[in-house]
Amino acid sequence: MPSQVEVAVFCPLFKTFTYLWPDALGQPEPGIRVRVPFGRGSRTGVVLSINVDASPDIECKTVLDRLDADPLYDGRRRAWLERARRYYLAAPGEMNELALAWAAGEDKRRWQRLDGLEESDPELAAVFGGRHALSVGTMRRKLPSHPVYHRLRQAARSGLVQEVTIDGGDAADMHTAFSGESIPEQLTQAQEMALDALLASDGFATHLLFGRTGSGKTEVYLRAAQARVEADGQVLILVPEIGLTPQWLARLTARFGKVAVWHSALTETQRLQVRQQLGKVDVLVGTRSALFLPLPRLAMIVVDEEHDGSFKQQEGVCYSARDLSILLAQELDIPVVLGSATPALESWRQVAQDRYQLLELPQRISAHASPKVKRVDMRGTESPISEVLLKALGEVWEAGGQSLLFLNRRGYAPALICSACGDVPECPACSLRLTLHRRRKQLRCHACGFVRPVPVVCEACGEEALLPLGEGTEKVEEQLLAALPGLRIARFDRDVVRSAARLQQLLADVAARRVDCLIGTQMVVKGHHFPHVSLVGVVNADLGLNLPDFRAGERWWQQLTQVLGRAGRGDAPGRVIVQTRDPQSPWLDRIGDEQARSTLDEELALREALCYPPFSRWVRVIFSAGHADRARRAAEAFVEACGHLPEVVQPVGPMPCALERLASRYRFEVIVRDESRAQLPWCLEPLLRMQPVPSGVRRRVDVDPVDMM
Ligand code: ADP
Ligand code: ZN
Repeated sequence: MPSQVEVAVFCPLFKTFTYLWPDALGQPEPGIRVRVPFGRGSRTGVVLSINVDASPDIECKTVLDRLDADPLYDGRRRAWLERARRYYLAAPGEMNELALAWAAGEDKRRWQRLDGLEESDPELAAVFGGRHALSVGTMRRKLPSHPVYHRLRQAARSGLVQEVTIDGGDAADMHTAFSGESIPEQLTQAQEMALDALLASDGFATHLLFGRTGSGKTEVYLRAAQARVEADGQVLILVPEIGLTPQWLARLTARFGKVAVWHSALTETQRLQVRQQLGKVDVLVGTRSALFLPLPRLAMIVVDEEHDGSFKQQEGVCYSARDLSILLAQELDIPVVLGSATPALESWRQVAQDRYQLLELPQRISAHASPKVKRVDMRGTESPISEVLLKALGEVWEAGGQSLLFLNRRGYAPALICSACGDVPECPACSLRLTLHRRRKQLRCHACGFVRPVPVVCEACGEEALLPLGEGTEKVEEQLLAALPGLRIARFDRDVVRSAARLQQLLADVAARRVDCLIGTQMVVKGHHFPHVSLVGVVNADLGLNLPDFRAGERWWQQLTQVLGRAGRGDAPGRVIVQTRDPQSPWLDRIGDEQARSTLDEELALREALCYPPFSRWVRVIFSAGHADRARRAAEAFVEACGHLPEVVQPVGPMPCALERLASRYRFEVIVRDESRAQLPWCLEPLLRMQPVPSGVRRRVDVDPVDMM
């Protein structure tokens, strides 16, 4: 009796499928990817279980091919993925495709190679023991006799095996601006206490390491990691940005034997290298998708800058890597550490409820007091840089120091306006104004990527009267150069920094003091350590505060506190100048580390009063289509179906999204809320499974949405 297997086919259907397993493919095992007949063609999927009872009157199709020699995950990770799937309301195939994306590529060929080897040279195949790759060292140990070597070469020539050497990978030859950083000999008392608490935890526990910017959180993670590695464990460190991985790498390679990096910009070869090292690495540092790499001896997870929005995936399965890492730690019974100077309100509430253990680092390492913040009222000022800021920049330059200007808007100006008729060019596909990129002589849509040349005359009235409206980093750079000729400026934004290598180069230039002034978007503030920066200027503090998103204030505060944290981290004391047209805004009193606790408490109280997340649970469902009517009707049908849900679950909408039109699609949203937090998201699954999505309409389900645009 041939066995049957339950397969999660990589497709968005909310079900699994049963197939017959042919003997020719060896032993079936959960966690092995397969190729299966599906519809009129074939698809990839993964085996979830063996010997399921198929109802006898349904005819089963047969698995076409096996793609992996060994399972890609074990039972605990399988259980974790199933919990994740149910929470994020994903189809089994979607969740597994996402979780196994790291393995996409090579494997099929290698399984076939091994298959062929078993027929042509069973002895050699036995040495490989069903594995598709062995290090040269292991092969030498297992194949000491010369003739076997010869056969190995032969097999390699005929493509049946692949000889793989395992070494330190790209971590070893990584030279960055940070490799000179010394390892502190002695921890501060606060660091010591935090470390003790981390090491004392045996089994699952979630810690929130709440430490001011520059308080030495990293040192605490690293020492905790060292202890885990010495006990033969592996440590995963999740960071929000690719740009942060080289900095981390330098710090890690100084202390650990085997370090690997994982992020979306790796080449196929680099990915393969990491995959082959998974059993050997001590520490893996990476962006959110690194969470899915099955480290076999994982003993601790660190989520650095845990409040950062980039841990939330925005398409497909909209998972939060922070929340999933906690689930994984629970499943594996290991500790997880979340670190931040400005924790997410979600995490702060967990602390208030005693679910997370709070560890605090209240002092900065450097002896300097907190930077002084000076507010400049920009009402009535035309130039994006005030006299006060300009003077300070000049002084710092003269003294040989570095300064940093923060403006979270790239391009030259966020819009063009016709001074004759007031018309503003918009994106033809989105409900958004086009940004002027003057150096490239283009108008660009920052939502969909649409590009067009800058028009000479206004298309509405024909007058030659188009003027830039507002300012972006490009304009600030231009004006600063005009005011302080000779100033060496480095711009940090996505238009300039288009690769990790370019970012590293820029960071190295800053570290070597080949740069006097950095101008950047959020890219420049995230976690980077600039010891020579003594002046920080916030060009426009009003940006980002008045967005139609209930988290706008929280996010603004996190960002500005990070910006301020860049000042005075080294030998020079810090100075901060904040330019605003709303100097009375209460938010301005909150930026800076000292106000973190009170800000968190006040915001949390406000959320509680409004019963907003984290006091209620939300699921945002977006329907989009080429015709507004279609999207709206699908959303209405969804709201109607929500009538069958428990009473505590309330759908709000449909309403047009804040970004109503995106890439030629009209978007309508329904926010489903649950004040009890007990029914959502799980109760939505049957509804999503049953409710057909009309053709031409796309449905995106976002559990715990962080982006409300
Ligand atoms: P955070 O991650 O909290 O922003 P970092 O870990 O980057 O802070 O620490 C800031 C600086 O202080 C780094 O240069 C780090 O090497 C240094 N540092 C950390 N702990 C100590 C210590 N105990 N003694 C001396 N210097 C330290
Ligand atoms: Zn657009």
